[in-house]
Amino acid sequence: MAEEHHGRCLCGAVRYRVAGPLRDVIVCHCGVCRRTHGAPAAYSACPRDRLELLADADLRWHEHDGARRGFCAVCGSRLFWDRGRAAISIAAGSVDEPTGLRTSHHIYTAHAGDWYDVPDGSPAGTVG
Ligand SMILES: [Zn+2]
Ligand SMILES: [Zn+2]
Repeated sequence: MAEEHHGRCLCGAVRYRVAGPLRDVIVCHCGVCRRTHGAPAAYSACPRDRLELLADADLRWHEHDGARRGFCAVCGSRLFWDRGRAAISIAAGSVDEPTGLRTSHHIYTAHAGDWYDVPDGSPAGTVG
């Protein structure tokens, strides 16, 4: 069977399906992610034409600095990050388990909050 993934927000009002593999997870420590997620943001990604929204009537988008973040208007879960590129980012925590994913990078670690430690040996940089 071809690889596919499913995911949803907490309440299930927004649901999606990804045909094919997901990219490994990148954890972003930038100030925008920290504010919008309340913590560092962990995102996988896939080519946008592989993402199928199965339920999106309550999906809303908030735009900041040229990037849109998709969230559920009912439960507030953050689901997507979209900068108009070929790939769209998908919040790793919304993917149904087992995800088979691993974390490959921590980015913007210089902006990490002062209340936690970035894992030792994490590749830094601005990948993604
Ligand atoms: Zn929801
Ligand atoms: Zn970020």
